[in-house]
Formats: sequence, C-alpha cells, structure tokens
Amino acid sequence: MRISLNRDECIGCGLCSQVCPDVFGADTAAGVAKLLREESDDPRVKDAKDSCPVGCIRVEQGV
Ligand code: SF4
Repeated sequence: MRISLNRDECIGCGLCSQVCPDVFGADTAAGVAKLLREESDDPRVKDAKDSCPVGCIRVEQGV
C-alpha cells in the first residue's frame, strides 16, 4: 500500500511512530511526523492511520 501524510494537519502527537515505527518517524525540527517510506505492506500502517487523532494519514491500497 502507498502511504501519504498531510504534514500541515499533523499535530506531532507521535502516536503513528509508536504504533508503526518502521514507516513513521518524527521530524523533530518541524514538530511533525515524517514518513520513513511511502510503500509498505506492514499491517500496523492501518493501525497508525486509525490512531491518528486528526486523520492526516492516508493509505491507498493496491498501488
Ligand atoms: S498520529 Fe497523526 S497527528 Fe500524530 S504524529 Fe502521527 S500523523 Fe501526526
């Protein structure tokens, strides 16, 4: 699946990187999350998406 992240909406809570650290990291300078990769089959990506309090993680299947 392909993952994208709207950094303008991210509040930097860090939940995504806790749930799925292989895909989500932290841009500490900007105070927001950053993607470590844009493609992954890790099932935790969906958990991270569901955990995001502002819904700024987008996941596209089958890309
Ligand atoms: S869970 Fe959402 S708001 Fe929190 S750091 Fe990750 S992308 Fe940003």
